[in-house]
Amino acid sequence: MSLIVQKYGGTSVGSLELIQRVAARVAAVRERGDDIVVVVSAMGDATDRLLDLARGICPEPAPRELDALLATGEQVSVALLAMALEARGVKARSFTGAQVRIVTSPVHTRARIHRIETDRLRAALREGIVPVVAGFQGVDADGNITTIGRGGSDTTAVALAVALGADECQILTDVDGVYTTDPRMVPEARRLDRLSFEEMLELAGQGSRVLHLRCVEFAAKYNVPLRVASSFATGPGTLICKEERRVEAPVVSGIAFNRDEAQITVTNLPNEPLAIHRLLEPVSAASIEIDMIALTGNREGLTDLSFTVHRDDYPKALRLVRAAAAVFEGSTVSGDERVAKLAVVGVGMRSHAGVATRLFEALAAEGAAVRLVSTSEIKISVLIPEEQLEACVKRLHAAFGLDRPPESVALPIP
Ligand code: ASP
Ligand code: MG
Repeated sequence: MSLIVQKYGGTSVGSLELIQRVAARVAAVRERGDDIVVVVSAMGDATDRLLDLARGICPEPAPRELDALLATGEQVSVALLAMALEARGVKARSFTGAQVRIVTSPVHTRARIHRIETDRLRAALREGIVPVVAGFQGVDADGNITTIGRGGSDTTAVALAVALGADECQILTDVDGVYTTDPRMVPEARRLDRLSFEEMLELAGQGSRVLHLRCVEFAAKYNVPLRVASSFATGPGTLICKEERRVEAPVVSGIAFNRDEAQITVTNLPNEPLAIHRLLEPVSAASIEIDMIALTGNREGLTDLSFTVHRDDYPKALRLVRAAAAVFEGSTVSGDERVAKLAVVGVGMRSHAGVATRLFEALAAEGAAVRLVSTSEIKISVLIPEEQLEACVKRLHAAFGLDRPPESVALPIP
């Protein structure tokens, strides 16, 4: 007998009919003889509608009250799912975050989970009752209701799986697994059977939206196997777990991309770290994250600096950099919002040479203008003009053999 935590997202509990379907799936796990704890999000776009209500009162509602309001979304879905389970003859009990005692930091709307008390959940499990727990919410040490950030139910599920020592945490959603790249852009994209935590972390960090980065970080840190599967269809989905030694690990497992970046370039800076520091300091002081970064010496013996920020932060970052660059005579500041980042990710890169060569060969064939490059042990990402993104992703997907099952990938003959 195993203990499984299953999480159902908003689209999977968007109507009463869907809630009944979820109840049937949960009942099937019980019939198999496994123990299960269920975590649910608010129904459909309930959280957005609650946010609209709050903003109808005032543009910046008090964060404490906003949390009290948003937490009601999940309270509705846990109660309805528990009713649906009871109606099928499956013993169930709903729990809000405060009832479980999911204790968080006292930071409203983006609290962090500090501790989960498991005694009530364990008592329910011992009595053969399915606990149905509200995702996304908790309570601080003073008893205030908190929420942990949009999309946070995935993280609640993983945190519960860790606290309960569950055998697996299953994220059931509207896609049937993690794909080699976004199938809406590349129809040849394939579902991956397994992926290492490390690869999923890179993919999530580089723009794959299947899982929340924080939830993967949590699962990796505590080594809880994570499975992404469809809440509607049966199928194994994608298992994300600790890397096993695979002899034939594919060089590239997946390609992630995002259009959320913007590039800022400053030319003709003195060739010294202090100048770079003085330019970047106001940007980080404004809590703006810098992603890719490159320094290049130019013909005048001076340095050009180029870096990327999130597109939402771009106007502000550009303003701050313009102001900071004013002290460097002869420097120029320019920016470009129409850029996109793509990243090829794979643990197989560690033991294979020539990944960058193949990447640039494919990008060259597309005539891509590569602006910035950044690498880690298992990733190469490049910044390119946004209009070239789709063609480049498609070209790379084929170039790295991702459109064919791994067994049939031709190995280069030495
Ligand atoms: N209902 C919350 C949201 O919409 C949490 C979640 O869905 O995970 O952000
Ligand atoms: Mg969600």
